[in-house]
This record gives sequence, structure tokens and C-alpha cells, in this order.
Amino acid sequence: MGSEIDEGTEPVPTTDERSAADRSNAAETVAGMVAGTVAILGRPNVGKSTLLNQIVGQKLAIVSPKPQTTRNRIVGVWNGPAGQIVFVDTPGVHSARGALNRFMVDEALGAIEGVDAALLVVEPPQSSAAVKIASAERQILDALRTAGTPVVLAINKVDTVKDKPSLFPILKGWEEISNFSALVPVSARKGSGVAGLVKELCKLLPPGPPLYAADMLTDRTERFLAAELIREQLFLSLRQELPYATAVVIDNWEERPDKNDVVIDASIVVERDSQKSIVLGKGGTMIKDIGTRARAEVSTLLDRPAHLRLFVKVAPEWTSSPQSIARLGYDR
Ligand code: GDP
Ligand code: MG
Repeated sequence: MGSEIDEGTEPVPTTDERSAADRSNAAETVAGMVAGTVAILGRPNVGKSTLLNQIVGQKLAIVSPKPQTTRNRIVGVWNGPAGQIVFVDTPGVHSARGALNRFMVDEALGAIEGVDAALLVVEPPQSSAAVKIASAERQILDALRTAGTPVVLAINKVDTVKDKPSLFPILKGWEEISNFSALVPVSARKGSGVAGLVKELCKLLPPGPPLYAADMLTDRTERFLAAELIREQLFLSLRQELPYATAVVIDNWEERPDKNDVVIDASIVVERDSQKSIVLGKGGTMIKDIGTRARAEVSTLLDRPAHLRLFVKVAPEWTSSPQSIARLGYDR
């Protein structure tokens, strides 16, 4: 039974019109095929979003070297000869302070409800230190045990482990921590081990017809993904705590069929005037750079030229107000 990652599949852009719940277009059931949902969970920055992108073969979830880049659950669909897996990428689980952080942790732990299996992503310990479980991982495993959800452990970033035999005690350490269905060393960045990981997950899923139509890669709209790509540039360009005080809202989206392009107006929301000045940069250089890079990413996503007009707005203390975070799209 083959369940290699199907790299031949042509990525199809998502559209606003298609409904995630619409199963009417789903491919016919084929005997022996599985279909189910898998939540990707773990501490911040272990590579959950990179892994999702690697598995589905398209950039759906934004990635940065900073923790807590991902704020919402994002669905990414893998289709292969063995069936279909609907992955749910989640924000990292950490001790949360403030309304936005609490929303993010609730998003992650809430994703456990109703999934068929979970993928816990961890990193190898630093140098030769013994495996030690973090409280966030303990919290995730406890919630999964309560829900009765089977768990596969992915030890990510093995490309950073020079001495491969040192992975054996790491695997053994994790084996002693919990009763995982499988333990798989992977490199989400390089793709190694990822096909085997998908194979292990397929074993945990029920047989059945696909949940999503074969050309659906995500439940997210182009608008959402475009806003995320702008937010990614903020995480990559701004230093220290500032990215955490930013949100991106799409104000206007104009398709120009005659020119085959799209004009997008977006606001970058910050908490204070001083932050606004930093995002603008001296003579507007910072926002210009952010715009140039985001525009390239959005054009790739949409597969047609995008023109971005970025604005910076101040919403005082928005990250600590439940009403404000909801207004900026962080609600359910
Ligand atoms: P998340 O917070 O768990 O979603 O993590 P991200 O996917 O945003 O990745 C966090 C950082 O780890 C980014 O800088 C990634 O490029 C990096 N990263 C992710 N996977 C790997 C990997 O397999 N190897 C290495 N060396 N770095 C990785
Ligand atoms: Mg992430």
C-alpha cells in the first residue's frame, strides 16, 4: 500500500467560494482508502507550520524564527494513494498571558476535540542533554489521553543533529514518556522522513471517502492567506516584541479581470504611535520593504500579479482586549 507524498498533484489556489463542508464534489470512495483529521500540536517554534507546508506541498501556514507566529488553526489537506488527511496546524502551546495569547492556546488545545489522531511535534534536546518533557507537552498529552486520541510523535529538525546515532537515546527517552503510536524523526525543512510520517498517520485513520474535494488544499480564503503573508513579513522584519503587537486586516480586495491582477488594501494594526513609527521606518523605508516582500509572496500565492497598498493604524492595547482581538479576526 503506497502512501508516498503525492508530489505530482497540481496545487490549486483556494477560492472564497468553496465551502469546506461541501463534500458533494468529493471523489468517489475507493476500497481501502482512509480519510480523517489530524491535529498538529507542540510548543511554539518546533516547526509545526513548516511541517504542514512540507506535507501539503504548498505554503499555507506562515513560518518565522520567532515563536508564536501562528495565531489561528489552519487546515491543510493531503491527498495521496492511501487516502486523505485533513491536517489542522495550531498555535504553539505555552503559558499564556493576555487575551491574544489565551486565544492562541485555546485554539491549539481546542483542536484536539473531534480529530482522529494527533501529531505531536518536538525538537531534539540541545547537545547531549537527556530528553525532558516541557509542561506544554505534558498539557497536550494529558488532553489527548482524556480525549482518547492516538498520537504520533515527530522529532523534527533532525537535520541539525550531526551525530545520527544520538537519535536512538532520544527516541527511547520519548518512548518512556508516553505510549505513542509511532515515533518518527523528520526534517520538515528538508522533507526527510515526512513520507514515512504520513504513512504512520494513515494507519490511525478510519476508512472512508475524502472529507474535502480533491482540489481543496485549505479551508482558508485567499484573503486570509494574503493577510498572513503580510504578517509573516512583519515577523521577519520587526525586532523583539513588536511583531506580537501587530495584526493585519484586508480592507479592500479588487480583482481586475481585464489586467489579470488584484489590488489589495491592507492595514497593519499596532498598539501605540511609537510602534507605528517603527513599522513605517525612516522616510517610510520599513513599510516599503515589507510591502515589496509581501507583494512577491502574495503574487506567488495567487498566481497573478498583486498590488499591495499598506496602511498602519493604531488600536490601543488591542492584544489585551477580547473585543479587539475578535474584531481583528481572532475569534471563532
Ligand atoms: P511553529 O511555531 O511550530 O509553527 O514553527 P515554524 O514552522 O514557524 O518554524 C520555526 C522555525 O524553525 C523556523 O525558523 C523554521 O524555518 C525552523 N524549522 C522548522 N522545521 C525545521 C527543520 O526541519 N530543520 C531546521 N533546521 N529548522 C526548521
Ligand atoms: Mg506555526
